[in-house]
Amino acid sequence: MIVLVTVNHNYTYELSDIIRMYFGKEEIKFLSQEALEKNQSFLKAEAKIIICTLTLESKNVRYKAEMTEACQHFENTEEELLDAPNEKQLKHLAKKTLYKLLSQIYNKTYPWGILSGIRPIKIVHKLMDKNMSDNNIESVLRQDYLIAPDRADLALEIAERERTYISQYNPKKVSVYVGIPFCPSRCHYCSFTSNSIQSCSKYVQVYVDKLLTEIKEAAVYMKDNSFEVETVYIGGGTPTSLTAQQLEILLSSINDCFGNSFTEFTCEAGRPDTITEEKLHVLKNAGVSRLSINPQTMNDETLKLIGRAHSVKQIIDSFRLARRIGFNNINMDIILGLPGETMEHLRNTLISIKNLDPESITVHTMAVKRASILNEENNTDVLNNNMAEQMMEYTKSFMKHNQMHPYYLYRQKHMVQNLENIGYCKEGFECIYNIQIIEERQTNVAFGADAVTKLVTDLEAGIERQHNIKELKLYIDNVEAMIQKKLTLLNKIQHKEISNS
Ligand code: SF4
Repeated sequence: MIVLVTVNHNYTYELSDIIRMYFGKEEIKFLSQEALEKNQSFLKAEAKIIICTLTLESKNVRYKAEMTEACQHFENTEEELLDAPNEKQLKHLAKKTLYKLLSQIYNKTYPWGILSGIRPIKIVHKLMDKNMSDNNIESVLRQDYLIAPDRADLALEIAERERTYISQYNPKKVSVYVGIPFCPSRCHYCSFTSNSIQSCSKYVQVYVDKLLTEIKEAAVYMKDNSFEVETVYIGGGTPTSLTAQQLEILLSSINDCFGNSFTEFTCEAGRPDTITEEKLHVLKNAGVSRLSINPQTMNDETLKLIGRAHSVKQIIDSFRLARRIGFNNINMDIILGLPGETMEHLRNTLISIKNLDPESITVHTMAVKRASILNEENNTDVLNNNMAEQMMEYTKSFMKHNQMHPYYLYRQKHMVQNLENIGYCKEGFECIYNIQIIEERQTNVAFGADAVTKLVTDLEAGIERQHNIKELKLYIDNVEAMIQKKLTLLNKIQHKEISNS
């Protein structure tokens, strides 16, 4: 057990992020200084005690983190915060000081330093907006966030590539997401909204009908108010779990509603066990320009272990079929750190995928989320997988060697070794939707169960969200209310336009 005592402040949420990097799932108990004194003898035997003290003096701010068990402490004095340091700066100082203490005690640093769950490239874009030089941005990343030099370089490289797509902010230019929350079976690492297409069969058609209602009503508003849809992304779940007829109706409605002239139209066909020739023809005829066929691994034994009811051969056959039908922009997702996988498994996955020659490969690091079967099984084998970092490094050199460049990056909580997810692509095959959704500089209008519409009225203001209900039956019963909430949110763009004119 970790006992965290905060003195003169209450930044327990921020400090817990750092504690979890070093102690994983170990229980954290929060105590006041008085409670600590009362229970000291008991706690000494039972727990690691961390005391974090903030001292605000007239001349400076001091922050001290100490770990009594290790008899070590680290103290930071931030002279530059002299004038009325704000809460955000103090929280940052708290995280940084505790990170320095723990990295000193355990002789371990993490590639993204004190960043936990924050999108690193967003920080770079904000600094670029201020016309800061690359050298200065790199210093901020390394000194303020304690990011490792190679990750700072990677963040800059990706931000520069993304800049082409995100530098022009237009409040009326949006992306559209459509969620299909059905899959043939549940992958053991999955934390997405995914219902078994078999056990929910009686809801599938009614879900599609309600989804179409939601899309059509929002589209009328968007058309009347001159919104322009730049990209469309159909995700899930597995959209190709639907029948060819259902897909045809859905796709033609999307085209009718949003004008059929998107820069990019992606459909996930994640699970090869849902792909048929007929469905691929439907997607192609409807103008889908980018397809995602996601193996996660090219090793049959791992596919079984993670609950994917298909073989490597099915992945290869589906990919080749999609090529024959004319898809010339295919993405494949893989995951590093899957249970039981070694470097040999990874090499096999990368070589097998390279032989297929997709236009992009998205590399995820295993993240054991609360809602996943792996977490329920308490699969610590995965959590303690020290190989993930080695795998990430190997993958980076493999991609470089094969002229696939990194074009977007994001991180999540609970990722093995606190690493990252990186999208790689051949030159000119960046997925614009992915860049926009991660950097959050464009409004995303999202439809379907658990979809989240994100409104960006300007780049300085925060994002406003409208969450659709996650549970299938409740979504079906309440779609009208969600439509109204979505329109109310979108109306804020309209209001802003009027007040600015
Ligand atoms: S295919 Fe994707 S959404 Fe479906 S169960 Fe697997 S991880 Fe979850």
